[in-house]
Amino acid sequence: MKYIFVTGGVVSSLGKGLAGASLGTLLEHRGLRVTMQKLDPYLNVDPGTMNPLQHGEVYVLADGAETDLDLGHYERFTKCVLTRENNLTSGQVYETVLSNERRGDYLGKTVQVIPHITDEIKRRIRSFEQVGDADVLITEIGGTTGDIEGLPFLEAIRQFILQVGHENAIIIHVTLVPFIKAAGELKTKPTQQSVAKLREIGLQPEILLCRTEMPLEADVREKLSLYCNVPVGAVIEARDVENSIYEFPLMLQAEGLDEKVCHLLRLETPAADMEGWKKIVRSIVHPSRRTTIAVVGKYVELQDAYKSIYESLCHAGGANDCGVDLKIVDAEEIEADGADKYLGGVSGILVPGGFGDRGTEGKILAARYAREHRVPYFGICLGMQIATIEFARNACGLEGANSTEFDPKTPHPVIALLDEQVDVTEKGGSMRLGAWPALIKPGSKSHEAYGHTEIAERHRHRYEFNSAYRERMEAKGLVVAGTSPNGSLVEIIELKDHPWYVAVQFHPEFLSKPETPHPLFRDFIKAAMCR
Ligand code: GLN
Repeated sequence: MKYIFVTGGVVSSLGKGLAGASLGTLLEHRGLRVTMQKLDPYLNVDPGTMNPLQHGEVYVLADGAETDLDLGHYERFTKCVLTRENNLTSGQVYETVLSNERRGDYLGKTVQVIPHITDEIKRRIRSFEQVGDADVLITEIGGTTGDIEGLPFLEAIRQFILQVGHENAIIIHVTLVPFIKAAGELKTKPTQQSVAKLREIGLQPEILLCRTEMPLEADVREKLSLYCNVPVGAVIEARDVENSIYEFPLMLQAEGLDEKVCHLLRLETPAADMEGWKKIVRSIVHPSRRTTIAVVGKYVELQDAYKSIYESLCHAGGANDCGVDLKIVDAEEIEADGADKYLGGVSGILVPGGFGDRGTEGKILAARYAREHRVPYFGICLGMQIATIEFARNACGLEGANSTEFDPKTPHPVIALLDEQVDVTEKGGSMRLGAWPALIKPGSKSHEAYGHTEIAERHRHRYEFNSAYRERMEAKGLVVAGTSPNGSLVEIIELKDHPWYVAVQFHPEFLSKPETPHPLFRDFIKAAMCR
């Protein structure tokens, strides 16, 4: 197995995840089997309990692991199927080592960062070898070189490369080459210093991936090469992409990144055939028409909080030859000013997932607006619970209907915890998580989209549709379009007399890829285009 480590220098948010994922795309198109891993230096055991405003969305894997959003890039850009093994945090490493220590596994030894923590990190990097279904592992190290937390990971990588040899493991350092307007120049010093930091601890990157706004001219490349001890041919320019992140692999291919990597790792493969990928990028970047979708949420300040939703809308646009203009609406503003002001004129309304009651009344107003004005509506997780509450209150006359998450004393708990979940008080690990099967009702909008009746979709929630209200709502025109296989849990609701109103208890956004857009997102955009 060959190993590629991706480190980051100078500042965070350089798109290491995207760079790794894009390299994964290129290597797969060269016929290699790729898997990807993220090492996160923070002490949370998983990102599940972190606020999306701080850390971006929590990306859920099929096995129920709550992971970093970079794993979303990995799954969207490659064919790899990730599991909880693919995301390692310092918290997990310490948890394992400490429980070994309590069990007495270290037999009287002093337990230390080196070798015990670093050994555990190496064991987790190595674990993919035994599975044996990949030729290349791309491992991204979170954080920025120089961070104290990152040191054990970098030290583990140093030891690892020493063991497997430089022909089997390389480091790609993603760095910033800033353009200073006053000087009219690209500056190499920050990169020099971050590489110096790596070399101080015994790591020498083989490739520099330079994030830059301007082209890297020959003199800048030579300077970087000389001071960073990297051959000039391995100084790769990574400009900001103009239109779409899916252009990134094409840009890196043009710069020769995959060629270089294969050469260094002694991988003999044909060049990557990216014609199919180019076609998809073209349909995303140059659509023949456009539509506007409102996303009504509460984590609206941070682009990353609804990452997978935005990406899925983009894929769905590509499939319909339609550009999607996003109108990000803060649910609390709808509460203050009413829905008309923000939703008048949009062609579709999407209410995404969320926790806690801030903004829920605004989302309920948005769902009502969509139902009454016959605007296509797509509710996801909380967005389905919102749709249920709205319908119960305003179409079924169940005054005060709510979710027990927002109003524990509601007279009509149309969304509630299942009986067996009522005792759960711990915040970590009490949710329905990961892929669950469901059955689709023939003839429904969802059936039309999926084209079959058996599906499996990823979940992340505690509360459920309360089936005690099912008949009353169905009598008023609610369609239960999907249930768990035994019929007990409601997974999809639709409205009978509406052009397209579909709300799902799961997260379809975790299954959409540019080549295979999710069918519900695709049909949502199709419906929006008809307005
Ligand atoms: N807060 C809701 C629940 O726990 C919805 C969760 C979500 O949207 N992911 O059921």
